[in-house]
Amino acid sequence: MTLLVMKFGGTSVADLARIENAAGKVAREVARGHDVIVIVSAMAGETNKLVGWVNQTSPFYDAREYDAVVSSGENVTAGLMALRLQEMGIPARSWQGWQVPLLTTSAHGAARIEEIPRANIDRKFAEGMKVAVVAGFQGVSPEGRITTLGRGGSDTSAVAFAAAFGAERCDIYTDVDGVYTTDPRITRKARKLDRIAYEEMLELASLGARVLQTRSVELAMRYKVRLRVLSSFEEVDDTSGTLVCDEEEIMESNVVAGVAHSRDEAKMTLISVADRPGVAAAIFGPLAEAGVNVDMIVQNISEEGRTDMTFSCPVDQVARAERAIVAARDEGRIQFADLVADTEVAKVSVVGIGMRSHSGVAARMFAALAAEGINIKVITTSEIKISVLIDRKYMELAVQALHDAFALDRAG
Ligand code: ADP
Ligand code: ASP
Ligand code: MG
Repeated sequence: MTLLVMKFGGTSVADLARIENAAGKVAREVARGHDVIVIVSAMAGETNKLVGWVNQTSPFYDAREYDAVVSSGENVTAGLMALRLQEMGIPARSWQGWQVPLLTTSAHGAARIEEIPRANIDRKFAEGMKVAVVAGFQGVSPEGRITTLGRGGSDTSAVAFAAAFGAERCDIYTDVDGVYTTDPRITRKARKLDRIAYEEMLELASLGARVLQTRSVELAMRYKVRLRVLSSFEEVDDTSGTLVCDEEEIMESNVVAGVAHSRDEAKMTLISVADRPGVAAAIFGPLAEAGVNVDMIVQNISEEGRTDMTFSCPVDQVARAERAIVAARDEGRIQFADLVADTEVAKVSVVGIGMRSHSGVAARMFAALAAEGINIKVITTSEIKISVLIDRKYMELAVQALHDAFALDRAG
C-alpha cells in the first residue's frame, strides 16, 4: 500500500461544490489503491476575514489568540471534507493540528514544524481508515497552544506530512495547472514548466511567486519529497502539473527558469550617516530587534566620511522600521541627516541555475529594463538570481519585458 499526500488550497475548497470536486480527486486515488493524507486550507477569503477580525479587535494583539482565531478556517474545511468523503463511502476522519499532533515551535504566527509523530494516524490507517483529512497551516506549541505556520502555510503542512509518512508524492492542488515561467496572471506568454529544480523553486517562492510557501520547498529539498503542483479544476493524471525535483532530473537548459515579482516592497534611505566601523550594526541591530525583515541593502560610496544607507523591507513594516530607527537616534546610537521612505516600489527577479555557468544575464536584464525606460533603484544578486527594485507602477511591464528578453515562452 502506498501513501499519497494531496493538498487543496483555498480556491480549491472555496464552497461545497468545490469540496465535492476535490473529494472526487481523493476518491480516485483511493480507488487506485492509495491511502491518502489530505491537507486542506481554509475556504478562499476566510483567513483574510479572520485576520481582519483580529486586527479590528486588538491592533497589538496577543499572537497566541491570533493563532487561535486564524487557524479556525482550516477546521471547517477539514470536517466538511471528511463528511463528503464519508458520503462517498470512503472511511475518512478529520484531524486538527493538535490532535495529530503536529508539534511546532512557539513562534506564533510563523511557527516551525518540529516533529509529526505518526502513531495516531498510523493506528487509524491500520484499522481501515483510507483518508486522514488534516487541517493545514496549524500545529501545537510545547506550551500546548495552537500555532500557525505563516500565510500559505498549508503547503508546508503538506510537505511535512509527506516527509514524516514517507509518501510516494506530495500533490499540491491549486487554481493553476502548474508552476509557470512567471505568474500567469501577469503575462499570457507565461509557459508551464514540466519540471523545476528545488533550488530554482526555492528562489522563486522566496522572491514572491506565491504558488508554494518558501518553507515548503525548503522541506521538500531537505527530505527529497517529490513535490507536484497541479490543477484542482482539470482532469489530471500522473504526468500532469509541474514536478519540483533534483536538477539532475531536468532536461531543459534555459539559463533563466523564471521571473518572480513582489509588489509590496518599500525602500528606506538614511541620508548622511557617519562612515565608520559599527554603523551598519548600529542601524540593522535595532531593525532586527523590532522584527523588520530587511531584504536588500546598499551603502553608497562615502564622501568626507559620510554615506547614505539604503535598505528594503515589506511596505507594511515601514512604520515599525521608522520607529526603530528614530528610537536608535534618540538614544544616541546612530546619527543621520534625514530618513526617506519610498513606499511605491516593487521587486522583480530573474532566477535560474544556468546563471552559475553563464555570464551576461545581468547585462541582458538591465538592457531589457532600460529599453522600457524603467529606472533601477536597487540591485542585488546571488549565485542563481538577480533582483531589482523599481517603481511599482512598472512592475507588470518589467515582468513582461524580462520574460521576452530571456525568451521564456520557448523551452530551451
Ligand atoms: P492556493 O490557495 O491553492 O494555495 P495560491 O493563491 O497561494 O493558491 O497560489 C496560486 C497562485 O500563485 C496562482 O493563482 C498564481 O497567480 C500565483 N503564482 C505566482 N507566480 C506563479 C508561478 N510562477 N507559477 C504559477 N503560479 C504563480
Ligand atoms: N489559509 C492559510 C492562508 O490563507 C493557509 C493556506 O491557505 O495555506 O494563508
Ligand atoms: Mg497558497
